[in-house]
This record gives sequence, structure tokens and C-alpha cells, in this order.
Amino acid sequence: MLTTQNFCLIIFSMNKNQEEEITLVESDKCVFCGKALNLKPNSALYATVVKKKFPVCSEICLDKTNKYLTNDKKHKKHFYWMFTLCGILTFGGIIINYSLLAFIGVIIAGLSFLIFPYPISSFESFTYWPIKKMNFTVRIIGLILLLVGVFFLLSVISDKINVSFR
Ligand SMILES: [Zn+2]
Repeated sequence: MLTTQNFCLIIFSMNKNQEEEITLVESDKCVFCGKALNLKPNSALYATVVKKKFPVCSEICLDKTNKYLTNDKKHKKHFYWMFTLCGILTFGGIIINYSLLAFIGVIIAGLSFLIFPYPISSFESFTYWPIKKMNFTVRIIGLILLLVGVFFLLSVISDKINVSFR
């Protein structure tokens, strides 16, 4: 029979199991800003991602990491949709030799990196390349793709260049 005491024991053991499953990811750098950490055991701060704890250098970086995680969860699917659309347009444009379509694809790829910079699916990567740096790098790549795409699109439209994939 399920008594209150037994019920509490079940809840307690469930919580205990959950706590045990969270593992600490060893790193000497803040997962958000990449600053070298000088952690004292009592003042250590961690961002918890699924079942892993990643060290951060301050409350500010902890907040920013949590905000990144929320946005990543919310917008990753938007990133993948835009990227799929980019792939279809770019390769479709190349296959049917219609350069305008291909360059629109490149512009969409640039926009997807700029607006939804969440291409990383393994959070462990951030122990080598922190979130702040990764965000910056992804957005720079996005900006370059956007500018290249717009440049070629305008050039083709205004007949300044003639691009053929064959
Ligand atoms: Zn930090």
C-alpha cells in the first residue's frame, strides 16, 4: 500500500537519481565568454544544460548562457528551415542553371546565420569555442554570405555579369 512515507521516499529517490545524472564538464574557461577561470570550489558557478554542468565566470555570463539556451531552443528549428530552403534554392538554381535562384539561396543562408545564429547542436563545442565567440563568428559568416549574395544578385539583374553554372 502506498503510504505518505513511501510516497515521500519514492519522490526523494527520484530526485536523487536526477541529481546523480548531472555530470560536470571539466573546463578551465567560461563557456560563455571564454575567460580563464580561477574557480574556488565554493564560489563556482555552473550553467546546466540537459544533464551536464558547464562552468561560467560570473552571474552575468550565467544569465547570458541561459538566455542563449532559451533562444537556441526556440529558434533552432527556424534556422534549420531557412537553411533547408537555402539548400533547395541554391542547388536547384545550379541544376537548372538559373543563377538568380542560386544567389537568392545564398542571401537566405546569410540571413539565417545573422538572424538565428544557432547552427551548433553539440553544447560541448562551446568549451573549445565559447558562445560569445561562436555567435560573432557565425554572424560574420552570415554577413559575408549576405553581401556576396546581394552583390551577385544585383550584378546579374543589372546585366553587369553573366553567371552560368555550365
Ligand atoms: Zn564569462
